[in-house]
This record gives sequence, C-alpha cells and structure tokens, in this order.
Amino acid sequence: MFKCDLCILEHGAEWLDSASAPKSEEELAVHLESEHHMPTARQGETMEECKRRFLKLYPEAQILETCKCPDCRVIRLNRDLMRAIVRPMTITSSILLWLIAILLVQLVAECVWGGPVLS
Ligand SMILES: [Zn+2]
Ligand SMILES: [Zn+2]
Repeated sequence: MFKCDLCILEHGAEWLDSASAPKSEEELAVHLESEHHMPTARQGETMEECKRRFLKLYPEAQILETCKCPDCRVIRLNRDLMRAIVRPMTITSSILLWLIAILLVQLVAECVWGGPVLS
C-alpha cells in the first residue's frame, strides 16, 4: 500500500479511498513533493540532484509563507499563535501604563496642591 501518513493524519483513513490518494510508488513520490513539498529521491537520483529538481519544480517551497512542508506549517502555526497571544498582552500593558500614569498625576497633584485635580 502506497499511503501518505500525513494525509491520513489530516483527513482520516477514509482518505485512502479518495481519488487523490496515490496508487503507486511513483504517484506517492509525486504526491509528497506536490502536496507536502517534501523532496523524494527517484530511482538513480542522488539527494543533491533530487533537491535541485525539486526546487526547480516547486520554487514556492523556498518561501515560508507558501511552503506546504510540515516544518513550515508548524513554524507558521507557532508564529500565528505567538502573535495572537502577544498582541492582546501589549494592549493590556499599555492600558495599565495609562492607569499608572493617571494615578501618579493624581498623587503629585495631591502633594503639590493638596487635592486631586483630575476627578
Ligand atoms: Zn499526503
Ligand atoms: Zn517548508
């Protein structure tokens, strides 16, 4: 059976019966390169030749945004996750900074003029 573990992981075992599932070793090699951007050495091909042929066929695999390989997908996922966490954090901290600034102004006003000026 020429199965793609990545696709089974993503779509479930029933994916094997679909038309896009590879039916031969050659089809699996094409599938891995076109669908997952994973260079797969053909018969009589060195890894060096394989990489050169692969990059000529799929130049988009050199760019993080367009590469479909599992590594790049994980990197993009982590980056998006970090952005989703960091952005609300910076908003919260700037609100906190404003609150501290207002409190400081109130405090200074109290010391200098003997009463709050901002309320
Ligand atoms: Zn696949
Ligand atoms: Zn990649």
